[in-house]
Amino acid sequence: MTTIDTATSACTVLSPGDDGWDEARATFNLLDDQRPELIALPRDAEEVAQAVAVARGAGLRVAAQGTGHGASSRDTLAGAMLVNTSRMTHVEIDAVARRVRVGAAAKWEHVAPMLSERGLAGLHGSSLDVGIAGYSMGGGIGWLTRRHGLQANAVRAIELVTAEGEHVRADAEHHADLFWALRGGGGNFGVVTAIEFDVVAVPELTAGSFFYPVDRAAEVLRAWTRLLPSFPEELTTWVSIIHFPPTPDVPDVVRGQSLAIVMAAHLGREAEARRLLRPLEDLAPVMDTLGPQDPIALGTLAMDPESPLPYRSTTALVDGLPDSAVESMAELAGAGGALAMLQIRHIGGAFGRRPAGAGARATLPGEILVFGLGVPMDAESGAAVARGLDGLDAVLAPLAVGEYPNFVEHPVDASRFFDDATWARLRDVKATWDPADLVRGNHHVPAASAA
Ligand SMILES: Cc1cc2nc3c(=O)[nH]c(=O)nc-3n(C[C@H](O)[C@H](O)[C@H](O)COP(=O)(O)OP(=O)(O)OC[C@H]3O[C@@H](n4cnc5c(N)ncnc54)[C@H](O)[C@@H]3O)c2cc1C
Repeated sequence: MTTIDTATSACTVLSPGDDGWDEARATFNLLDDQRPELIALPRDAEEVAQAVAVARGAGLRVAAQGTGHGASSRDTLAGAMLVNTSRMTHVEIDAVARRVRVGAAAKWEHVAPMLSERGLAGLHGSSLDVGIAGYSMGGGIGWLTRRHGLQANAVRAIELVTAEGEHVRADAEHHADLFWALRGGGGNFGVVTAIEFDVVAVPELTAGSFFYPVDRAAEVLRAWTRLLPSFPEELTTWVSIIHFPPTPDVPDVVRGQSLAIVMAAHLGREAEARRLLRPLEDLAPVMDTLGPQDPIALGTLAMDPESPLPYRSTTALVDGLPDSAVESMAELAGAGGALAMLQIRHIGGAFGRRPAGAGARATLPGEILVFGLGVPMDAESGAAVARGLDGLDAVLAPLAVGEYPNFVEHPVDASRFFDDATWARLRDVKATWDPADLVRGNHHVPAASAA
């Protein structure tokens, strides 16, 4: 282990085999095997600058990570220093201004409970275990997005150490080009040290789920897709088909069961939510948990896995799901299928609205987002998962109108996520701030001159 001494602080830098090395390179997906040359564990912006200087001096590129939740979409980190910011989790909340400032590795779980106590919520996603930085810079979508837009649009400032080692603040008034690029272009422009964003008031929330046996998945999905055009932006519903493992970390009521679940979050009264959802209630769910909730309930509504696991996934944005697609998807995710989870989210509404002053990722197309996930435990189940995901891709390919980068969990050419003008502008900003391509995000934006 090396410590880089300066007058005020010293950044810890690990080499392979040092104590804590495997923990520091671990990710949420147990199939990832990141093998950087060095790992820096900075505690503050000054130590981040030290780490960047060491990487530059050693001829290594720099990859920043707070939680490793988005690591599957990047390379193995050969020739790189991993700047693991996990020690930088400070949080400041100004409830009156509805403004939050957090360190680079703060997770949603570090802010959501305190916000909820004050009747507020951040625009987080399905899991509070996710890091705010990577989530926000990739777009950031969750239960409140149909009403309030992408989290990237709620970001008001990002502080970062640039490839040159300078600590800068990017906002609407300072380095506006960088601020634009960071909101969608991700971790390609420097190592983020802090992020500031707005949160929203949630004076009234109804949330919960209708649970059905998995063999009713196609029937439930058909009924749900027909209802979508009647739902206001205040109501967000997802259908998830989940095969819950029989493990102790899974809640008792669903442990070991295979279920089709309609999940709902309504910014309004329970009576109105039930009126809107009546045709699904009429399908007689075996369990119904819909009711008044505090905003914190949105952090567990989706019942995402809470511990790292091995998984492969696929995703697409579509305008609609014809019955033939619904039948195929229900079969792929149903009993005996290879997918452990199929999550089908109603999007639309504010997903499609670009606010003034927005960044590179302000909107997403489509009315429905599909995300399928399989858990390979050995070679045989790995082959079955691959077939299941290929099957899902075959169903979705003719319907797809785009992809959501944060859900694309394998390395791809990132130009496919942007229109030509946005991609060219991202590459120009990269050429200004990091022409030598020192700092690379999980979805890589090369500098314009690198053609
Ligand atoms: C269980 C689970 C549930 C999820 N649910 C949702 C959801 O509902 N909605 C949604 O939008 N997304 C969701 N995601 C996807 C998530 O938004 C992405 O995986 C995101 O990249 C995670 O960001 P992170 O900071 O936690 O991860 P990390 O792996 O730490 O970071 C991801 C990337 O962000 C960049 N980055 C992170 N920190 C820095 C930094 N300090 N400086 C520069 N760049 C940095 C880098 O490019 C890095 O590779 C989910 C993921 C999981 C695993």
